[in-house]
Parts: sequence; structure tokens; C-alpha cells
Amino acid sequence: MDWKNLSFGYTKTNYNTRCYYRNGKWGSVELSDSEYINMHMAATCLHYGQEIFEGMKAFRGKDGKIRLFRWEENAKRFRHSAHGIMMPEVPDELFKEAVFKSILANKEFIPSYGTQGSLYIRPLLIGTGAELGVKPSREYLFIVFVSPVGPYFKEGFKPVNMMICRDMDRAAPHGTGTYKTGGNYAAGMRAVEKAHKAGYANVIFLDAKEKKYIDECGPANFFAIRDNTYITPESPSILDSITNKSLISLADNMGLKTERRKVKVEELATFEEAGACGTAAVISPIHIVADPVMRKEYVIGNGEPGPVSTRLYNRLTAVQLGDEQDAFGWITIVE
Ligand SMILES: *Cc1c(COP(=O)(O)O)cnc(C)c1O
Repeated sequence: MDWKNLSFGYTKTNYNTRCYYRNGKWGSVELSDSEYINMHMAATCLHYGQEIFEGMKAFRGKDGKIRLFRWEENAKRFRHSAHGIMMPEVPDELFKEAVFKSILANKEFIPSYGTQGSLYIRPLLIGTGAELGVKPSREYLFIVFVSPVGPYFKEGFKPVNMMICRDMDRAAPHGTGTYKTGGNYAAGMRAVEKAHKAGYANVIFLDAKEKKYIDECGPANFFAIRDNTYITPESPSILDSITNKSLISLADNMGLKTERRKVKVEELATFEEAGACGTAAVISPIHIVADPVMRKEYVIGNGEPGPVSTRLYNRLTAVQLGDEQDAFGWITIVE
């Protein structure tokens, strides 16, 4: 494999794991060498959106060991998502077995240390039972596939510009925003496309009810730094990012204050640093936020990553690679 030129996209590996839910119980985890699934055309995932997923990464350290980052958090969120849209929860032990099996069956696809690459892990749960009326499926398929990925941004750790969206929402306060379900992504695609066309890296969604507060940055959480404080939105319609949680712990450990609260759009004018965070990029620093409807443009920092974001990024990636001691117990050695 040419690890250095790997992009953030799908690459075929040798195996994936599958587990079926039938007659009210989970079967055993099976290895498959097929990239395809054979499914009934009336499956509930195809018509009524019974679909959830996760995204996590495994890393090859300098010592050659395979490190998995906070899988227990992903397992917990997967259960939360499943419960939210009437799907059976995958027990943590089953989740772990499928994830570990998928990694170990594809060891040669884990980018080596120093390449900036990692093994992206994609657990997926879909309703496969045929139903015509709107009701939860009686059968489900849990799949875990993996793909080697390169850095999310080829240009590296560089600030991006974002556009505030005021005419489309991703999720409502009592909707499905806290579940990692495909429908939320479909709901956001037109807004993301609009931002891309206008030359922005992604869209910032506001709270759907009042349009006053920052919700999320596309598929990532938002955070900002001001007066030695790490600030991130509290909202009933955002996906609780594990990267964000980890950055909060690191910020606290570095002596910053941390605040999880509503963040007014106008506060953008006061931030020293801002960023989007998620598994894919860890942190994308944000330079400019445009709010075209309000005819405003917020400029944050000088176009280079801020010092706090840089330290947070360096520390989190160092823990993931095993270069920094795992003081928080975030790493599981797979092998
Ligand atoms: C997955 C996701 C995130 C990031 O979560 P991580 O656990 O940090 O990867 C943020 N927002 C949305 C909408 C997501 O789907």
C-alpha cells in the first residue's frame, strides 16, 4: 500500500464482520469477504431510515502495537442511537468482538506509524426486515467494515472557512440530532452543498428553534477558545462528539476552564480561536465564519492555527499514536 498518498475515502479490505438479529436475538459474529449485502427491497432501512452508524479509528504506534481510541464510548453512543430509532441495541461485548475481529482480519491495511494514516472503522446497523407499513423491522444486520484512511485534509492542519446556514436545519430540538443516523446527513446535504458552492469548507447549523445559537459544524462539533476557556455548545439537537469530550478533558488537564453552554452566534466576534472537531479530522481550525443572510463576516485569528488548538491537536493525536502516555485510559491495545 502507498500509505503516504492515501486519501480520506473508501479502500477495499479483505474482510468485514456481520451479525444478524432474528427472532428477538443476536446471532454470532461472522467474517465475510464480500463487500455486498443481499437485502429485501422492502427493508425498513431503505424506506423508513432505520439506519445508524459509528466512526472510529485504530492506529499503529511506533512500538508496532495497534491502538483503538475510546471504543467503549462509540459502543455506548451506538446503543443510544439504536434505542432512539427503535432498533435493538448491540451489546457492548458484541460490538467489541465485531470491531476487534474486523481490525485483526485486516491488519495489513493499518497504515504504518509516521504516515499520518489510520484504520477507519465503520460499524453499521440496518433494519433488514420487509415491512410496508411504517413500523420497526423485526430483523437487523450489524456490519463492521474498515478502510485505511489518510489525513482528512491533504493540506494538513490548516484553518478553514465556514458558512452559517439560516434557511435549512439539520435536526430539531426534540428530533433525531443526538442519534448517528443517516437521515440527519441527508437532511444536511443540501446546506453543505450550498456552502461548498459558495467556497466554504462546511456549514455551521444554528439551533432550529431560535436561530440564535451555534449547533454544529456539518458532521463535527464546534468549539472556541477565549480567555483561557474552552467553550462548546450545549444543545438538544447535536451529536455528542467523543473527540469534543476528549478535548474538554485535555483542556481541563492543561489548566483551561471549560464551558458547555449555549453559544450565541454574535460571540464569534469575541473568540480568539475556533474549530470543528470529530474523529475524521480531530480538529479543523476555523478562520472565517460568514453569515451571508445577516451580512456579517467573523474573522477569528490570523489564518494560522491558534496556539491552544495546536496544543490540543498535538496532544490528542499523540495519545492516539501512543507517543504520549494514556493518562485518561482512552486506549485499548488490540494487539
Ligand atoms: C460523528 C459526528 C460527530 C463527531 O463525533 P466524534 O465522536 O468526535 O467522531 C459530530 N457531529 C455529527 C453530526 C456526527 O455525526
